[in-house]
Amino acid sequence: MAQAQIRRAIESGVPDHVPLLHPKLAKNYGNWKYHDRPRPGVLHHVSHTGDEVWTVRAGTQRQMDVFTIRTLCDIADQFAEGHVRFTIRSNIEYMVSSEAQVAPLIAALGKHGFPVGGTGNSVSMISHTQGWLHCDIPGTDASGVVKSLMDELHEEFTREEMPNRVHMSTSCCEINCGGQADIAIIIQHTKPPVINHEMVANVCERPTVVARCPVAAIRPAMVNGKPSLEVDEKKCICCGACYPPCPPMQINDPENSKLAIWVGGKNSNARGKPTFMKMVTSGLPNNPPRWPEVAAAVKNILHVYKDDARPWERMADWIERIGWPRFFEKTGLPFTKYLIDDWRGARTNLNASTHIRF
Ligand code: SF4
Ligand code: SF4
Repeated sequence: MAQAQIRRAIESGVPDHVPLLHPKLAKNYGNWKYHDRPRPGVLHHVSHTGDEVWTVRAGTQRQMDVFTIRTLCDIADQFAEGHVRFTIRSNIEYMVSSEAQVAPLIAALGKHGFPVGGTGNSVSMISHTQGWLHCDIPGTDASGVVKSLMDELHEEFTREEMPNRVHMSTSCCEINCGGQADIAIIIQHTKPPVINHEMVANVCERPTVVARCPVAAIRPAMVNGKPSLEVDEKKCICCGACYPPCPPMQINDPENSKLAIWVGGKNSNARGKPTFMKMVTSGLPNNPPRWPEVAAAVKNILHVYKDDARPWERMADWIERIGWPRFFEKTGLPFTKYLIDDWRGARTNLNASTHIRF
């Protein structure tokens, strides 16, 4: 009987967050009367019980070393009330119970180099995929692009001067676990994979690799007397999907793996329905550690949007109003037939509702 009562670890799903909430958030859960934003980066929530909570949001470099995390935790202990949470865009938030705690907390964050902002109509932290640190197939770093871009855009993080919120993302392969964003930076392979035939038979499940190709460009083949694969390069769209199940199909290349910028995606249903982003420039060099060409292109699009959009227009709304020809005219980006693919069949067979999630 005693054995049956042992609590076993739950090895699926996220842990229950409620015991970890700031006590005032737990007490007033679902009972908030209103909230406002006294300044960029600070949210002020008032409950029906009269309780008040100030939340201070700061940007981080996303993938952090243990010393940085300890610094953030020390700030929570000394200047807040020991509770933090991370937003989906990797901002850290501190909750405090009195307005008097807000200014010293912001000063402590600033002293350690963490900008306060990311609320309202700002450029929030860039969400990114795992990059070199965690994933086995990336063609570029993701957190590196984010860090170098946010170094240049951090004034737009600390102010709320954009027409509407701006969500940006980066993805380090074309399979793109980064999702939709107002501006997205995505790796783009431009050459078919180069196959290491010596390795294929030892490392790859050939039927799995063949099945993986979206355009049926891969066939089994015997090469030098060994079972291997071949690619019909006329069909290959250089998507990179065959590389994860078969690393000998090497597609990453310092010269031919480029970066492309897509704009106008959003997940929310607010004002307009969710939209798919579209590619507006490509072939930018994959140039670590600061990716200057990508930063220049992103800043150009962002500043044209900031100057030209009407209040509350998201990137997609703005483009819809002015039209794609004017978008290319205003941003000075060269238009080619390969950009802004708007395949008509997409209207009926692609998911365009936030009610369905995969
Ligand atoms: S975008 Fe691609 S490479 Fe990057 S983490 Fe996601 S699956 Fe991995
Ligand atoms: S890169 Fe994509 S299209 Fe080309 S062979 Fe591999 S899976 Fe097929």
